[in-house]
Amino acid sequence: MDLDFAQRSAAPVIAPVRPRKLAKVPFVELADGRLQGVVSSGSDIERVYVSSIGAGSHGLSCSTNNNRPCGGLRGSYPCKHLQALLDEAVLQYGADRVARYLRIEVEEGKSLLQGLHSHHEPSPAATVFSSFLRHLAYLELPVTTDPIPELHWFPGTGAR
Ligand SMILES: [Zn+2]
Repeated sequence: MDLDFAQRSAAPVIAPVRPRKLAKVPFVELADGRLQGVVSSGSDIERVYVSSIGAGSHGLSCSTNNNRPCGGLRGSYPCKHLQALLDEAVLQYGADRVARYLRIEVEEGKSLLQGLHSHHEPSPAATVFSSFLRHLAYLELPVTTDPIPELHWFPGTGAR
């Protein structure tokens, strides 16, 4: 049996994040008293950031899926991942709903970002990330076009 072939052909199937690399913000939700989600790294397609903004507190959190703190989040100014997360939330939920949920008072002519009274407040990235993985599994299953490796052992009708 050609085990090497079997391992190579299985490789795309065990990397479910890869087909969605074009999505800048593949996951966003208003849940657990936070706007939270997953944001692709701009420079490394293998890395994602887990970002959240606390409702009311406006506490900011951003770290990689491996729980390493985001280098762009220093002090109280939102890093580019948090900005992308907020932009995506506005697209999906509408600015009014996001502002109400986070309790942001938006002044005339200002953005939601400018209405944040933000500060750095680390939150458990693992919780958000496991929620993302459940969401991803749910999204990916019906639309997968990856070959199913088990079927490689059964030749097609034309093959002899
Ligand atoms: Zn960040």
